[in-house]
Amino acid sequence: MSNSNAVVPNDLSAFWMPFTANRQFKQNPRMFVAARDMHYTTSDGRQVLDGTAGLWCVNAGHARPKIVEAISRQAAELDYAPAFQMGHPKAFELANRIIDIAPKGLDHVLFTNSGSESVETALKVALAYQKVIGQGARSRLIGRERGYHGVNFGGISVGGIVTNRKMFGTLLTGVDHLPHTHNLAKNAFSKGLPEHGLDLADELERIVTLHDASTIAAVIVEPVAGSTGVLIPPPGYLKRLREITKKHGILLIFDEVITGYGRLGTPFAADYFDVVPDIMVTAKGLTNGVIPMGAVMVSAEIHDAFMTGPEHVIEFFHGYTYSGNPIASAAGLATLETYKEEGLLTRGAELAKAWEDALHSLKGEPHVIDIRNIGLVGAIELEPIAGQPTKRAFSAFLKCFEDGYLIRTTGDIIAMSPPLIISESQIAELIDAVRTALRSID
Ligand code: PMP
Repeated sequence: MSNSNAVVPNDLSAFWMPFTANRQFKQNPRMFVAARDMHYTTSDGRQVLDGTAGLWCVNAGHARPKIVEAISRQAAELDYAPAFQMGHPKAFELANRIIDIAPKGLDHVLFTNSGSESVETALKVALAYQKVIGQGARSRLIGRERGYHGVNFGGISVGGIVTNRKMFGTLLTGVDHLPHTHNLAKNAFSKGLPEHGLDLADELERIVTLHDASTIAAVIVEPVAGSTGVLIPPPGYLKRLREITKKHGILLIFDEVITGYGRLGTPFAADYFDVVPDIMVTAKGLTNGVIPMGAVMVSAEIHDAFMTGPEHVIEFFHGYTYSGNPIASAAGLATLETYKEEGLLTRGAELAKAWEDALHSLKGEPHVIDIRNIGLVGAIELEPIAGQPTKRAFSAFLKCFEDGYLIRTTGDIIAMSPPLIISESQIAELIDAVRTALRSID
C-alpha cells in the first residue's frame, strides 16, 4: 500500500507535461505518489525500483533523512533571501564545499536553478570573458551533434538534437557542431570506453581553420553524452579537445549535468578523464534532485578577469531571483554531506564491474544491437522498427514499469543510471527485468 496521502485528480488536462506524449499519457497515466531509498510507490500502491535515479539526479536515493531535515529546518529559519547585493551564509558555504570536491583549477561558483540555466550561464560567462580580456571578436560557439544542453535558446543552439531545434527558428547564429562520437559499426558492444573515434576530435581543428581561432569563444561538450543514449568518447578524445582549445585560446566547457556528482565513479567526469575544463556546468545531483539548483564552476583566471574596474560596479550582469536560494543551498549542503559520509562519489567505481557484467549479459537478447556502459550508467540500443522508430524501447519501458522497474528511453535506446546506493542484487534484478521486457516485445 502507498504510504502517501496524495490523491490523483480526476482531471489531468491542465498540466501540459514536459517531454511527454500528453494525449497518450492521460489515457493511461503512470503516477508516483511516494519514494524512499531505491523505490517509488505508484498511485495504485506498487513498488517500482528506480533504475534511473529519477531523471539522472537522485544519486543518493530517495527521501534521505539528512536532506529532508535540512530542507525543513531551512524553510523555517530563512526561507528566502536575495543574492543580489545581499547574501546569506549557506550559499557561500555550499560554494566552498563544491570547490572542495571540484577538479583542481575550478575555483568559483555561479548558482542557477537547473541544468538549462547552468548552460546559458556558462555560455554567457564564456562570451563575456572573451570581451573582458579584449578578445571580443571571439563570438562563435561550438557544440556537438547529439549533444543535449537543456532546452533554452543557447542550449538548443549548441545542442545537436534535431527535434529540440527544428521548431524554434534560426536559434543563435555563429554556432558550429563537432561530429558525435557514436560509431555503431566499429564500436558496438564495447565495454567502457570504445576503441575507435579519437580522430573525431581533430574536427575541431577543421572548424578552427574554417573560421579562424580569433572568432571562436568556446567549445561545449558533455564528457559522456547522456540524453541521446550514453555516447562514450574513445580514450584520449577529451584530452585532445583540451589540447586544441588551449592552443587556440578557446574555452572548454564540460556539461556535467549528468556526469557530475559521482555518476562515473569519480566526483566528476573531468576526474575520470583527467581533463580539467575552464568552465563546468552542473545541476541534478547537486541537490540529489530534490530542489532545483545548478552550479557553474569557473577557473580563477576567468573569474579574476571580471574583478577589475571600480569596486562599486557590478562585475557581471547575470543572475536569477533564486540564485543560491537558501533552501536549495541547504539541500545542496546536506546532499554533499550524504555523498561524503556514504562514499557515494566513488561508489560507482566499486559497482562498475558488476554493472558492466550485468548489462553485457543482455548481449544476444532480442533486438539488442549495442550495449554501452561507464561508471554507473548504461545503455542498450535496440534495432528500430522501420517506420516506427522508438516503438521497441518504449514498449520495453512500459513492460518494465508494469513489472515494477523504472528505466528510461531515448529513441530506440534504453538508458539506465540507478541511484549510487543500489546493491549488486538490485542491479541483477533490474537487468533481469530488462531481459524479460526485451523477450516480451515484438
Ligand atoms: N545538460 C545536460 C547534459 C543534461 O543532461 C540536462 C538534462 N537532462 C540538461 C543540461 C538540462 O537540465 P535541466 O533539465 O535541469 O534544465
